[in-house]
Amino acid sequence: MGAEGNVHRIVVPTPLPLGSTNVYVIDAKPITLIDTGPDTDTTLMDLKAGLSDIDLGFKDIERIVLTHGHVDHCGLVCELSKVSDPEILAHEQDKDIIEDFGAASSERFEQCKELLESTGVPSQTLQVLREFMEFLGSLTHICTVTNALKDGDKIDFENDQMDVIYTPGHSSGSACYKYGDVIFSGDSLLIENSPCSVYGGADKKSMGLDDFLDSMRKLSKYGAKLVYPGHGDPFEDIEEHVKIMQKAYEARRDTITGYLEGEGLTAFELMNRLFGNMSIEQVLMGLGETLGHLEILVEEKAVKTEERDGLVYYRI
Ligand SMILES: [Zn+2]
Ligand SMILES: [Zn+2]
Repeated sequence: MGAEGNVHRIVVPTPLPLGSTNVYVIDAKPITLIDTGPDTDTTLMDLKAGLSDIDLGFKDIERIVLTHGHVDHCGLVCELSKVSDPEILAHEQDKDIIEDFGAASSERFEQCKELLESTGVPSQTLQVLREFMEFLGSLTHICTVTNALKDGDKIDFENDQMDVIYTPGHSSGSACYKYGDVIFSGDSLLIENSPCSVYGGADKKSMGLDDFLDSMRKLSKYGAKLVYPGHGDPFEDIEEHVKIMQKAYEARRDTITGYLEGEGLTAFELMNRLFGNMSIEQVLMGLGETLGHLEILVEEKAVKTEERDGLVYYRI
């Protein structure tokens, strides 16, 4: 049996439209969790039940390794830390958002306020987005990342090691972990999602769709047999999956350039054309993906920008 024989998946609920999150337990020395789920009573209960099914309890957790700083993955860290004082490992670029989501996310919101306003997002929607960020903040608490990781670091177990693979794009500090023949991919590789990014550039400024695509290609070269994603069932054949995602990206890019003929559109208008009616969580993702595509197209000089009445219009 390979190292991956020690891996158990526990599916925990979230109060978000995306449904459940996967928490993985590596039952080796030291006993390690990959992600925790958000800080809600039901998540805590289901995690406890899942651990108990494999004869473990919160007191046994010696280490928590996080795939990224979104609260549906790291929110429970603070609560769990109180029980067994585990080591907390995460990529250095997401350390700030994991340790203090409220401060880091409002700083980012202020940073991108001007950009958001120039996209044509109605001020009412901006306000709802801000409230949604506050709600996300309620699903996590202040904690300390004890070990900040970098690409290529090794995480030691008694009998083997796990490799840290830096995969920015979904968030600035997203990381995947290769353990034996499997990769824990967080949200950097999901079976049901098209390529997307939400302010995830490695530079902490850009949307990061190009980083996201680079990270997917990087992951496909590791020769892993199985992917354990942050949401949904495990899947095989990373290379094929990455090809599908790449095609979806190219198809959307073609659709976008088709929409940008003539007078041009604001990013918000373009997002509505692409995705239609969306929930507030989807607006965040939809706008992130739209701006991600536009960022690449402008960089490649395939699309021009034009400012009219304080709004930025994009056209071919
Ligand atoms: Zn995420
Ligand atoms: Zn997620």
